[in-house]
Amino acid sequence: MSVLIIGSMNLDYVYQVPHLALPGESLMATAMSTNAGGKGLNQALALARAGACVRHAGCIGEAGTVLRDLLANNGVDVSLVQEVDVPQGSAVIQVSSESAQNSIVVFGGSNRAFGKAQVMIVLDAALPTDRVVLQNEISCMDVILAECARRGLPVVFNPAPYSDDVANMDLSSVEWLIVNEVEAEQLTGTGDPDEAQAIVAKRWPKTNLVVTLGERGCVCFAAGERIYQPAFAVDAVDTTAAGDTFIGYFVAGLEEGLPVKDCLCLASQASALAVTRPGAAPSIPRRSELPAL
Ligand code: ADP
Repeated sequence: MSVLIIGSMNLDYVYQVPHLALPGESLMATAMSTNAGGKGLNQALALARAGACVRHAGCIGEAGTVLRDLLANNGVDVSLVQEVDVPQGSAVIQVSSESAQNSIVVFGGSNRAFGKAQVMIVLDAALPTDRVVLQNEISCMDVILAECARRGLPVVFNPAPYSDDVANMDLSSVEWLIVNEVEAEQLTGTGDPDEAQAIVAKRWPKTNLVVTLGERGCVCFAAGERIYQPAFAVDAVDTTAAGDTFIGYFVAGLEEGLPVKDCLCLASQASALAVTRPGAAPSIPRRSELPAL
């Protein structure tokens, strides 16, 4: 078994500023860092650090080779990452020293250059035993989902960030839908996990659902069973990539054939550790850092 991620890779330019820049204002940043980001990249790293066999497919611009190298150095197969003549997908993030608030401008760039022909090339390279992991940050999501359904490939779908076209996508191949409370509300009209499950079960009866609830844990609905997994109590310093870490470790557990309750526990352990550390990619723990289940 192996995992095929088709997803985003971003360069995050993070500027520490005294306050968020006002319209027309020029502001000196007090610090700056360039970080790897993108939900696809984060989830691929989480899967690889959990010990899963994972391939990543997606598009990078010229400046994105560092992202491909980061994935490769973490053991991710990057043979399906394609270089395109489009600027690298990126985000410009201001973090206010005064209020700890942030303001983020995202540029899709290379992540939005993923075309139909490439969908076919990537899915032709998929093995029948592959599990496909998707988020909603790249182009052609409707085509990818429809093709996975046509080919009978099981999909784990994290429709984040949510967009209105998700409701019209063919989710019939989705084995696992993983959403936080906000995405649950956007997709089903309710952030209540049980009410969301009732709606998902009606629309996509074969799909299992996980709703993550931040520090309150998560609720999973699979094979007629409801499982509540509390979060592990930690001192959180930065919750960026909590969901991505959760998804990577959850899918790694499924790949190992662990019972669903153990996958949830593993994912919760890993994401609890991630929130005790600053940043996205660097906060995602390795399996050896987790206590044994
Ligand atoms: P997202 O990052 O997608 O918004 P959540 O905030 O729901 O996702 O977090 C995903 C998972 O990460 C939670 O289900 C929980 O297991 C873990 N988690 C998030 N925040 C905390 C926290 N403050 N303490 C412990 N675990 C946390």
